[in-house]
Amino acid sequence: MILRRSAAGGLQTIHMKEKINLKGLWIEDLEKLLGDLGEKKYKANQLALWMYDKRATDFNQMTDLSKTLREKLSSIAYIDGIKLLKTQTSSLDFSEKFLFKLIDGEKIETVLMWEKNRATICVSTQVGCPLGCTFCATGKMGFKRNLTTGEIVDQIMALKDRKITHVVLMGMGEPLLNYDNTIKALKIMNSELGLSLAANKITLSTAGIQDMIKKLADQALKPKLAISLNAPTDEKRSQLMPINKKHPLKALLEAVKYYTSKKKGRITFEYVLIKDFNDSQKDALELSKIVQGIPCKINLIPYNSAPDLPFEKPSKEKIIAFRDYLYPRCPTVTLRQSKGEDIQAACGQLSASTKP
Ligand code: SAH
Ligand code: SF4
Repeated sequence: MILRRSAAGGLQTIHMKEKINLKGLWIEDLEKLLGDLGEKKYKANQLALWMYDKRATDFNQMTDLSKTLREKLSSIAYIDGIKLLKTQTSSLDFSEKFLFKLIDGEKIETVLMWEKNRATICVSTQVGCPLGCTFCATGKMGFKRNLTTGEIVDQIMALKDRKITHVVLMGMGEPLLNYDNTIKALKIMNSELGLSLAANKITLSTAGIQDMIKKLADQALKPKLAISLNAPTDEKRSQLMPINKKHPLKALLEAVKYYTSKKKGRITFEYVLIKDFNDSQKDALELSKIVQGIPCKINLIPYNSAPDLPFEKPSKEKIIAFRDYLYPRCPTVTLRQSKGEDIQAACGQLSASTKP
């Protein structure tokens, strides 16, 4: 049942089959809902604060809302989230991998990594991924569906006892192909009524869709941007990332430049190092050339093996040689230490194939 304002200003009762889940609704949606209930719109802020900051799941906890409003809300809505099925902790570095069950039974994985006083959560935005990169376990599992806004933020909210300081949208899926839900999730993460994370503590990683990068650049809330570059030429990149055929390097780099013109600071290029494929001195030289003029950092990620994928990590010596050749030619180069390799929690290993 829902109460609606009648043309005369009174309340009308409308019967609805299903209650709505408020998790994932943000200020504009809550204002609309309150308007429909004949309530003042400013109460949307209180409701958001209770749901996201205080993490209330029962309207009766919302003691500064009137009893009448709480009753109205209970009669038409509920607050529910994703369910934690399983936690695995790495014995190598204490990173943790979480398997969550969604309302329709689908599963996603989320990873938490610790580094000094940083706790970074690697959040998924889709179940699977439609882009099918040939080196990535998520790409291999194919695409099931987009996550809702609620399912994206809930990965962070569900881990309430961990003091999360940074978020990277680098789990399963391509965030820019789930644009609206991702943006709304970013707003909830960033707001003081929500999770109070500064925009610079949130990184969005993308395989590179130029129009969407530009759209993101034109938005008020701009996260840090990471681009999965992975190869220095169109010919090689298309072999790893089929999306490169439609969105080649030139267009991608032009969109990246646009982003850096709109948001101060460097972007990150991620480069997965694959044995005998993109790990030569020639590759490093070409890579250093294509990123010239872009304020950036290059993050080298030694390939993490994934079941049934035909790639390997280069030797330690090769990785160091690549980094040392690249470094004087590019302003900043980092070599990522993989986390959680023993629990299949490293980059590109998420596939939610684990049985509960
Ligand atoms: N779809 C987005 C975000 C998720 S992928 C994107 O591609 O950016 C997150 C990162 O994992 C990407 O940088 C990708 O290149 C990297 N990755 C995927 N498979 C990997 C693997 N097997 N080893 C190391 N990194 C991998
Ligand atoms: Fe999708 Fe990113 Fe994996 Fe490519 S690397 S398949 S875009 S999750």
